[in-house]
Amino acid sequence: MQTPKNLRALDVKAFAKSQMHLEGDTPLAVFERLVSDCSGEVTGHVSWAAQGAMDPEQRGKDDAWLHLEAKAAVPLTCQRCLHPVSVALLIEQDFRFVADEATALAEDDASDEDLLVMEDSFDLMALIEDELLMALPLVPMHEVCLSEQAPTSAEEEAILAEVKPNPFAVLASLKTRKL
Ligand SMILES: [Zn+2]
Repeated sequence: MQTPKNLRALDVKAFAKSQMHLEGDTPLAVFERLVSDCSGEVTGHVSWAAQGAMDPEQRGKDDAWLHLEAKAAVPLTCQRCLHPVSVALLIEQDFRFVADEATALAEDDASDEDLLVMEDSFDLMALIEDELLMALPLVPMHEVCLSEQAPTSAEEEAILAEVKPNPFAVLASLKTRKL
């Protein structure tokens, strides 16, 4: 199998059977959905590698596997100081291709790997983008901002509840003193 020219239309079966290794540096700007979640100027690359394999777990099935690694630093906005923060994303995930959606649903809970439905033409770039999107922090923050973060109101309540003496405990201690 020649190196596929179109990474958005990959023949997964052939990719797995030939245990092909693909890797590249793709500009972040190509990943439009990811860029729309970034702030400021989006520069830099996503470094990624994909390794194909057939049934490495000896499950007795003719399954195609894909091991994906990707890393990127994306510009986000710190939710405490509202200044830009560069957040490193790191992906390392195994995927197993199954025949259809029903099989994927049935076997998903029992599988450590993620399950994907086998397609003749597989969009590897979309998979990398999906994984990067899922790796985005819900509340991006500088490390220093995170450590300086004030307690939330729920945390404050918990602290106050601990400090404030329980009226029943006070009563009990008064009784003890009388005895
Ligand atoms: Zn900050």
